[in-house]
Amino acid sequence: MSGNGEYKAGLLEKMPKTIRKMFNWGRSFSLWPVHLVTGCCSPEYMQLFGPRYDLERWGVLPLASSRQSDVMIFVGNVARKMMLRAKRVYEQMPEPKWVYVIGACASSKGPFPESYSLVRVKDYMKVDMFVAGCPPKPEAIHYGFLKLREKVLNEVGGGGSTETVKSTQ
Ligand code: SF4
Repeated sequence: MSGNGEYKAGLLEKMPKTIRKMFNWGRSFSLWPVHLVTGCCSPEYMQLFGPRYDLERWGVLPLASSRQSDVMIFVGNVARKMMLRAKRVYEQMPEPKWVYVIGACASSKGPFPESYSLVRVKDYMKVDMFVAGCPPKPEAIHYGFLKLREKVLNEVGGGGSTETVKSTQ
């Protein structure tokens, strides 16, 4: 299940397994992210679209348009005010959709556990993939994306769990 899961429960689950697999295969090669990128994790994330990691070869196209995106990415620290806007963007995205959280701040407030203004993304929406680290290395973020892609590929409707990738940083 991703997002609120209603889409899959209503439609995909009724389809034959082969058809669902075909859908998932197509989706796994066209994960278009919309992202909220803040804090010092940002330069690590940006490298993914450069020539070294080249995420576009996996069909990952950063569009920054909520209506066409299916992955919401949080990188760095997320303030309460920003989260309310991010939640609205998330709600505008069509089903099925996934959430990918990068770095200690977005996962658990990182080095600022007592902060009054920072929030944890998982308290506002279901997260499909975490990458730990402060900051996580680009290799770990890249690997997390491949794991998310794998998850999309194998998802046959219902019950998707959250996964965590550890960074050696
Ligand atoms: S997790 Fe560490 S590197 Fe990333 S935004 Fe927070 S403090 Fe900066």
